[in-house]
Amino acid sequence: QQEEDKLIEYMDELEFLAHTAGATVVKRFTQKLTQPDSKTFIGSGKAQEVREYVKENGIGTVIFDDELSPSQLKNLEREIEVKILDRTNLILDIFAQRAQTSYARTQVELAQYQYLLPRLTRMWTHLERQKGGIGMRGPGETEIETDRRIIRDRISLLKEKLKTIDRQMSTQRNNRGKVVRTALVGYTNVGKSTLMNALSKSDVFAENKLFATLDTTVRKVVIGNLPFLLTDTVGFIRKLPTQLVESFKSTLDEVREADLLIHVVDISHESFEDHIASVNQILMEINAHQKPMIMVFNKIDDFSYEQKHEDDLTPESRKNISLGEWEKTWMSKSKYPTVFISALTKENFEEMKKMIYDEVLKIHISRFPYND
Ligand code: GDP
Repeated sequence: QQEEDKLIEYMDELEFLAHTAGATVVKRFTQKLTQPDSKTFIGSGKAQEVREYVKENGIGTVIFDDELSPSQLKNLEREIEVKILDRTNLILDIFAQRAQTSYARTQVELAQYQYLLPRLTRMWTHLERQKGGIGMRGPGETEIETDRRIIRDRISLLKEKLKTIDRQMSTQRNNRGKVVRTALVGYTNVGKSTLMNALSKSDVFAENKLFATLDTTVRKVVIGNLPFLLTDTVGFIRKLPTQLVESFKSTLDEVREADLLIHVVDISHESFEDHIASVNQILMEINAHQKPMIMVFNKIDDFSYEQKHEDDLTPESRKNISLGEWEKTWMSKSKYPTVFISALTKENFEEMKKMIYDEVLKIHISRFPYND
């Protein structure tokens, strides 16, 4: 049962991603195999089933929740005869659509080429098919090799470009001097941009879709006469394509160089615990897990807690839960200062600001010792 819930949730997330990319989802298929089929990932029986559905309903694209190997992609395209996207490709597409700065665009382009490189043969057979194979004298490996070389050159060029921007950004960060730097981290769609807006009274793009934030924004925030910098970082997501983890290095640099992390959690999401784990995992990978942190449990206005936590909260207390009651839940038992808020209705906002103020002040004081 638990496994099935997970499956539904993963498919929900994939549908959300597809929607963000601009697709309309009409049908879901699931397949249970002890291990993925090496040729077609889902097995040829399932592929036939999908093919029939696609044919009958005039479907344009089939999306897979995992990354397919180049040959699986090729085989599936041949069997189902429709455009196949895997999770990686879909996510790259969304990032490409939404990249706003030249830096983000360069990062996405690099990731896309890295994804494309091992899949180049597939592109080539496409072209061949289009041209009907006529007039394609002796293309074969040599031309694929030429294409590969062009792409490799492009990849090195993009990497160089990124290095240059990296250096510029690092200089910018150094110039920010001794001001305390805080970074919002958290799974995607948890409300980081909304919180950023509320704290800095600026207008960062917030919408109910994944990846609204691609580029980091740094804002100056003042709480009780204490100025500090607040960075909104890219939303973390489960199974982020490795090409992106690497290429979004600079976004993560903001996190790596922050003095204080504000970990935002969407408590209304049924798997918020998994989200916390994913975020912590990434923080560990970039060696930022030992920084001071504040846990901000957001969206308490939209909270519906399922049975699994009934030991913590009695059913009657589910609505209008007071701060005192929140503080009795397991979530408060973390080693970090913890607060429960709604970025939307501003509930408990003052408590959160006080908490941020206290933590920032601690860091601030440690930097300017009186006996110095
Ligand atoms: P980000 O991806 O973490 O930056 O998340 P956003 O700030 O873009 O917010 C994602 C969605 O959650 C938007 O539709 C917000 O309006 C919504 N949201 C943010 N905070 C709250 C909250 O406290 N309560 C509710 N109900 N929705 C919220």
